[in-house]
Amino acid sequence: MTSHSQGKRSSRKEPLLPPKGTRDLVGNEYLNYQGFAEKAAEIALYYGFKPVETPILEHEEVFTSGLSSATDIVGKEMYTLRTKGSDRLALRPEGTAPLVRAYLSEGMQALPQPVMAYYYGPYFRHDNPQRGRYREFRQFGLEVMGSPKSIYDALIVRLCVTILGEAGIKNPCVEVNSLGCKECREGYRRELSSYYRKHAKEVCAECRERLKSNPLRVLDCKNPKCAPIKESAPESIAYLCTECKKHFKEFMEYLDEMDVTYRINGSLVRGLDYYSRTVFEIISGDSAEEGAESGSALALGGGGRYDYLARALGSKKDVPAMGASLGVDRILLSPSYTPLHPRIIKKPEIFFIQLGFDAKLRSFQVTEILRKARIPIAHSLGKDSLGTQLGIAEKMDVPYCIILGQKEVIDGTVIVRTMANRSQDTVKLEKLPEYLKHLKR
Ligand code: AMP
Repeated sequence: MTSHSQGKRSSRKEPLLPPKGTRDLVGNEYLNYQGFAEKAAEIALYYGFKPVETPILEHEEVFTSGLSSATDIVGKEMYTLRTKGSDRLALRPEGTAPLVRAYLSEGMQALPQPVMAYYYGPYFRHDNPQRGRYREFRQFGLEVMGSPKSIYDALIVRLCVTILGEAGIKNPCVEVNSLGCKECREGYRRELSSYYRKHAKEVCAECRERLKSNPLRVLDCKNPKCAPIKESAPESIAYLCTECKKHFKEFMEYLDEMDVTYRINGSLVRGLDYYSRTVFEIISGDSAEEGAESGSALALGGGGRYDYLARALGSKKDVPAMGASLGVDRILLSPSYTPLHPRIIKKPEIFFIQLGFDAKLRSFQVTEILRKARIPIAHSLGKDSLGTQLGIAEKMDVPYCIILGQKEVIDGTVIVRTMANRSQDTVKLEKLPEYLKHLKR
């Protein structure tokens, strides 16, 4: 597949390309995405998660209230539009705030708690496109809403690792941290700010800016100039209150018991500012190596607890919750990714050949019998000659052909041809599904 760096056509004669940072998914690439989404959904379903789909467009305030404008994805990267009725909408840049919005607007508080939901779909961020970074990308997300218990934090991490494992990513690096609750996080924020203020002259302009708008984000800085300051910065786990410490300890005990290998990264804060207590990020084994060489390992996914987000979105009380999202595009780009095949899209093993107008008229009846029997077929209904159609079947490497000619139309039969030895059998139309099901594949 061609990659388009520009997304514009330079002259009127060239065909239009998809917008910069977006891609068409065609052929195997589409199947790879579909296969991954099906496998991830299957795992989530086995663990009791239910599918939820929210609109791609949301009211802008779902993100401005939920995440604050000081986060990059809201302040700099969100695509917004004004409708003809003057509503301000946004193309969703992430999945958690919409899920909490749906939890509240659908009255999910009334359901047994916690509500465990999974989702898959496209997300949009106006970022500079590069390898593994697109303007339209796909995430698979898991959320547990309505419980503060640390076992759910561990379950979410475990499921992410399980899903990655099914996709061939065997040794993901899981990094964890705890940011604490409203109370202890405040103390930490003050300490961190005062530490960075002392070093204000040594850090980059962006860090100085973040210090004012969203101090925890200074720890997301990738500028080598700021690395030594970041290294010696105070870490949030040293400031956790007794309850948060207990929560973090339990979370790690569950991870140990669930066989998840992880390491504590004291400077992991993640880009979104709704997180409290647990945060985590997953980097693939291979991209960690790649990243060590290039200095920028790409995260395959991450998440955390967001106990106060529901209130920011209008809930009268807090809804403690934990979630994660996996970056599907990046998983599919990982060197160790092993394609997962979609279940409903089967490669046809039978090619249907029709000869003559009467056979063309009858062809829909035959293909419909096969569809009802769940036997997928390939065909070339617009073609006329036997040679051409057999040629296409050979190219597609199907083991069998069904041939419907003038005589077969009159007799109510078809010919089934085995491509390997060219042997042919005449079969009554009503017996065809049964006959095909017993063929050797
Ligand atoms: P976030 O919502 O920022 O926590 O992102 C979760 C995951 O989505 C990341 O770990 C990435 O794998 C993926 N992701 C985020 N932004 C992009 C992007 N612009 N292009 C492709 N994948 C992305």
